[in-house]
Amino acid sequence: MCAITGIKNHSHAAHELYDSLVHLQHRGQDAAGIVTCDKRLYEKRSKGLVRDIFNEQDMEYLQGNIGIAHTRYPTSGAPSHEEAQPFWIGSPYGIALAHNGNLVNDKELKKQLRQNRRRHLNTDNDSETLLHLFADGFMDQTEAASSEQFFEQICQSVEYLYQNAQGAYSLVATIVGWGLVGIRDPHGVRPLCLGKRTNDHEQQDVIISSEPTPFYSLGYQLEDNLAAGEVVFVDTAGQIFRRQLTDRIFAPCIFEYVYFARPDAILDDVSVYRARLRMGRYLAQHWQNTYPELLPDVVIPVPYTANTAALSFAHTLGIRYSEGLYKNPFIGRTFIMAGQSQRRRSVRFKLNPQSTEIADKKVLLVDDSIVRGTTSREIVRMVRDWGAKQVYLASTAPPLQHPCYYGIDIPDEEELIANDKTQQQIQDYLEVDALLYQSLHALLKAVTRRGEHNIERPCMACMDGYYTCGKPILTDSQQQKDRHESIDHR
Ligand code: SF4
Repeated sequence: MCAITGIKNHSHAAHELYDSLVHLQHRGQDAAGIVTCDKRLYEKRSKGLVRDIFNEQDMEYLQGNIGIAHTRYPTSGAPSHEEAQPFWIGSPYGIALAHNGNLVNDKELKKQLRQNRRRHLNTDNDSETLLHLFADGFMDQTEAASSEQFFEQICQSVEYLYQNAQGAYSLVATIVGWGLVGIRDPHGVRPLCLGKRTNDHEQQDVIISSEPTPFYSLGYQLEDNLAAGEVVFVDTAGQIFRRQLTDRIFAPCIFEYVYFARPDAILDDVSVYRARLRMGRYLAQHWQNTYPELLPDVVIPVPYTANTAALSFAHTLGIRYSEGLYKNPFIGRTFIMAGQSQRRRSVRFKLNPQSTEIADKKVLLVDDSIVRGTTSREIVRMVRDWGAKQVYLASTAPPLQHPCYYGIDIPDEEELIANDKTQQQIQDYLEVDALLYQSLHALLKAVTRRGEHNIERPCMACMDGYYTCGKPILTDSQQQKDRHESIDHR
């Protein structure tokens, strides 16, 4: 998972791109970058947190009133400068591109680009493949005479991209001399929002971003979410052109609502906060039906993504909600940290139990999901160490039984605890006195019940195995290993 953002304003885009990245930092803490443009491209990208990468001199250097930016989600490998985005290419025009998502046919595409189009790809990163494909779509076109004509050429290039690229990809790009582009994949798996602002000179500024979370602080208003298969072009004069190029099933990632998006985000016309409140309420009702004899003394969220659901869970049961686990905000999420032993150690670094909230109590922990189970078991042990009489665990997501090929670090089947174990076996492994998962139906209802949305069937492939955008072709264990090592978990 990653965040992308693009801005076309009337002053200096770099400052606002930086501020946007700060508001999108939760979507990736591995690396970040900004590329701006006037008559040329200016870039700064590096590994690390946004606040540590950019300084005043960088802001001075990043000239122009159009630009794009990216924060990268950590991979299973070490963070690297080379993997930091945006990427750019000199021909045609000078195009920079940033990507959120994952291609499932990257290897085949790279091979085709090398053999048939004599293109050099410098990394294993699928974002570079997307950049070359997008650029390739312009190669046989003549010079456009107007923005209207250039938008037609962009649409042709994006159609070429859609015909070839399989998987999930929200993109922002800037094209020297022409403007800013936003593209959402044909199934709309990864989010992309459009915002507008009338500046002090009565001119219109535009932002395109993974979430609307930066909009308020920068004075932009959410205009719309890009539809599945939609392209938007903002020319250098600020004119906006939009077109939906495909008509496939709209399948946004349901895990955005469970875990990734910031709770104050509204994605595809559904409030993430309200969806999480409903997840908690439905889970509590499920608890009452499943364990009518088990009444906890206190409901404690695994902070912070489960806080909202735990609040409504406790409210529904009429039980005290307590923040009995304090999370150190300066350590990254364990779910996205590399390696099992690092993940295990980090639990005790980042969570501090509060004895007053735990000792001699029947504690019900609410977490957003259970992936490998190692983190959950460490938390359960910690809560027992601090004197809990009994420990129960409820997950707002159903069992995760399948990997994600669309940009979230949900690993291969053999690493997922729910893949081959019964609920009783998982309960025993986690050392809890009772365990409850949300049902798939309840999660779907929690996300889609309210809001003027047009979500037909969200992607839930990690839970139900139905891959709307296809899967990588794997024929043997080596290929499986290759995929696990090379997949870029944005
Ligand atoms: Fe989201 Fe799961 Fe689909 Fe991946 S497989 S896009 S995490 S719902």
